[in-house]
Amino acid sequence: MTTYDVIIVGTGPAGMGAAFSIIEKKPNAKILMIDQTPYSTGGMRNDCKMNFTYPIGFPTEYWPEDLANHYLDMVTEFLKPNILPKSNIATYQARAERLGCSLLEIKQTHLGTDGGLELIKELQKRLQENGVELALGETMESIDNEKKCIKTDKRELGYKTILIAPGRHGFRFLQDVMKMLDVPFVDNILDVGIRVETRIEHYPIVKDYYDPKFYFPKQVRTFCTNSGNAHVVKEKYLTEKGDVWYSVNGHAFKADESKNNGLVNFAILKTIRFTEPLASGQEFAEHLGLMASLMGGGKPLMQRVGDFRLGRRSKDFDFNGDLYDFKPSLTGAAPSDISLAMPSKVLRFIWSGMKNLDTIVPGILHPSTIMYYPEIKLYANKPQYKDDHFQVAKSVFFAGDGAGTSRGITGAWASGIRASEGMVEYI
Ligand SMILES: Cc1cc2nc3c(=O)[nH]c(=O)nc-3n(C[C@H](O)[C@H](O)[C@H](O)COP(=O)(O)OP(=O)(O)OC[C@H]3O[C@@H](n4cnc5c(N)ncnc54)[C@H](O)[C@@H]3O)c2cc1C
Repeated sequence: MTTYDVIIVGTGPAGMGAAFSIIEKKPNAKILMIDQTPYSTGGMRNDCKMNFTYPIGFPTEYWPEDLANHYLDMVTEFLKPNILPKSNIATYQARAERLGCSLLEIKQTHLGTDGGLELIKELQKRLQENGVELALGETMESIDNEKKCIKTDKRELGYKTILIAPGRHGFRFLQDVMKMLDVPFVDNILDVGIRVETRIEHYPIVKDYYDPKFYFPKQVRTFCTNSGNAHVVKEKYLTEKGDVWYSVNGHAFKADESKNNGLVNFAILKTIRFTEPLASGQEFAEHLGLMASLMGGGKPLMQRVGDFRLGRRSKDFDFNGDLYDFKPSLTGAAPSDISLAMPSKVLRFIWSGMKNLDTIVPGILHPSTIMYYPEIKLYANKPQYKDDHFQVAKSVFFAGDGAGTSRGITGAWASGIRASEGMVEYI
């Protein structure tokens, strides 16, 4: 069995943040990074817009503002982002405030899905130049912390310290690991909502502000706006029993006028927090996802705003012509009636958010606008951490979206750095 000083599971931004930080602190450490995908690195491959303003991407229960800014400075120093310009913000902010809503002004950069890939390749090259071994296409399966080893689908590997950062997709895997390590956890929060797709002229704010972050009453917010060459996509999830459900998401390629499809998409999400009797966010999400999948014949659902307002389901016909004048960028969604599948409380607050948004940026409720359902974000595994470096058992650390320490690329990167500061004590 080969033993490393450091094993990092997951080559997303959390894993990257930790790896580069350890290289700096312990240049001679023997480091292995493994990832189940044959390429690297997690969510940085999708759209890669990065936010550099607190609290975007930083769950406040783990990140007081001063602490987050301390780490954000390190992330900024490393990634050297070109912050996008913004204009007319005060006008939108004043309109939002009149309605009891707010628009956060965030420092952002946007590399696009293709630009993100270029960054990933450069980061991989730098890791290898610094002696880090990358094992791509290898999946961690189990851990034995007494023996200080993990099993992957290919071999056994020893470690002095390990970071497990499997991202949102690794949500269930991380729960299995916590059971193996006897780490108590809850997962009582999730975000549920829709993805909206429309023509840029119906949401022109994106010309002033690439990813505008609106906050509405009842914990509803806009999230992850993409425009230009923008696409809605679906992500496949499996339940423990092997049933399939989909969450929608969105991304865009880097700005290129010649490839612009004229569309914009963004999520409107409502945060749900369960209290007694405590429900699992993961299980709740699966039930919602399966319900949508059942209605959509195995596909996520889509409905035109015009149909939704009239209380009628959308049909294939509604996605083909006349008034409903643009085709959905996601071809694998089923025309349907989202109000049959969505919990009414979530739908009510989201629709209210959309009406507010249409008053702040008139146009979004154009009948042609498409609402895709479900968009679900699971980031709320809450392990019982032993210290400020996200240590869950002696020499075992977690970080990133799957571990609840972040909700975006920069937060994940920062939480990787924070974990690494505890890990180096074991090297
Ligand atoms: C479509 C899409 C678009 C997004 N757009 C943005 C955006 O524009 N801006 C933003 O800030 N955030 C965005 N996000 C979210 C962002 O990707 C995440 O916040 C971020 O990547 C989290 O980092 P992470 O390191 O925790 O996990 P990830 O980036 O998900 O990386 C985890 C890695 O672990 C690997 N892994 C999982 N389980 C195992 C295992 N058992 N063995 C080995 N490897 C394993 C996975 O293959 C993955 O590569 C987007 C996400 C998606 C899905």
